[in-house]
Amino acid sequence: MSHKFDPQKIREHFPVLGQTVYGKPLVYLDNGATSQTPSAVVKKMTEYYEQYRSNVNRGAHKLSERATGEYNLARKCVAEFIGADNHEIVFTKGTTEGINLVAQGLRSFLKAGDEIILSQMEHHANIVPWYMLAKELGLIIKVIPLTKSGELDIAQCFALFTKKTRVLGVCHASNVLGTINPIKNIINYAKERGVITVIDGAQAVPHLPVDVKDLGCDFYAFSGHKLYGPTGIGALYGREDWFDKLPPYQGGGDMIEQVSFDKIVYAKPPQKFEAGTPNISGALGLMAAIDYLKNLDLEAVFAHEDALRSYAVKMLSQFDEIRIMPSPPESVSLISFVIDKVHPHDISSILDREGIAIRSGHLCAEPLIKHLGVNAVCRVSFSFYNTFEEIDMLGQALKRVFEVFRR
Ligand code: PMP
Repeated sequence: MSHKFDPQKIREHFPVLGQTVYGKPLVYLDNGATSQTPSAVVKKMTEYYEQYRSNVNRGAHKLSERATGEYNLARKCVAEFIGADNHEIVFTKGTTEGINLVAQGLRSFLKAGDEIILSQMEHHANIVPWYMLAKELGLIIKVIPLTKSGELDIAQCFALFTKKTRVLGVCHASNVLGTINPIKNIINYAKERGVITVIDGAQAVPHLPVDVKDLGCDFYAFSGHKLYGPTGIGALYGREDWFDKLPPYQGGGDMIEQVSFDKIVYAKPPQKFEAGTPNISGALGLMAAIDYLKNLDLEAVFAHEDALRSYAVKMLSQFDEIRIMPSPPESVSLISFVIDKVHPHDISSILDREGIAIRSGHLCAEPLIKHLGVNAVCRVSFSFYNTFEEIDMLGQALKRVFEVFRR
């Protein structure tokens, strides 16, 4: 291998990876669903619970002051990581909540007959919130088709825009095919036509540098748990002008400046969108995850993930029985495949017994899975702590699958 990244050293930071499953060393290849957290993240969260657990933005006491300070630092850390300003970052439960916040917030900006453009490769998180809104308001959803190689058909995408197009919702990277979409290009096209751009960054943020200002999007959502952070925390970027005009998503404490029964003045963003006690330990854990990543050589990290994917494509291609789903050259580190006549759930169960964790099913992307002409797929998704040996182990375990089904 030409790159010098050493995952073995890195693995020591992730205690969960050191275990055995059914007596076999764990091979964790389900990072696209949830990646693992380094000890630094757990340590930061424990620090909060053991030293300054208290509410934020309220208590006039030492503990609360410290918690508030750390919470504000976490926001700053997330903002810097994706090139945003602090007040343009709202903490959410994850990508799903971020997109719902935007879809619900846009309710008063849309009317019957308005059009929303989504793509064939969207995760349910970027379909269902729009479908719900469309049903309620009479909006029309249009779908960007894919090419045979699993990329967005850009010419067809541009052809979908009309005078009625108001929103474009598209993923930065696909959770099924890995495709990294040329979103800057599409955002530009949308922007020139006054179309609101909402980007699902769940699969992109862990695997490539993201700069929301450079992309020029209006909204960008991602999840902490895929970025080596805790579950139940994520972030939504909203460009300042949009966060100013978007109404609150939920009402309650902490998101107001003044309340009486006949008049309420909302707080300024981001507080306007953070009703109630936030996920404080989650935000701090996310900060620790980002700090951890910033201490790695990210170029080497991404190169290693890329090399793992190429190696796995080669390995999987050796088996005539395996059909790899389109896997474009510009792709994050995951691969979906099927084995004809063997259900993906059976494959994942056999692999599980060999200590190998993969994902199987429709991957919360039913329209794409149907488009691929299958009912379900297996997905292996890599992180920088995975090794080439683990891919060899996957290859060995797949032989076991063939043995079972040839019997
Ligand atoms: N979008 C994509 C592309 C995803 O892969 C996922 C997670 N599988 C989501 C959205 C939803 O993320 P979460 O469940 O963390 O809200």
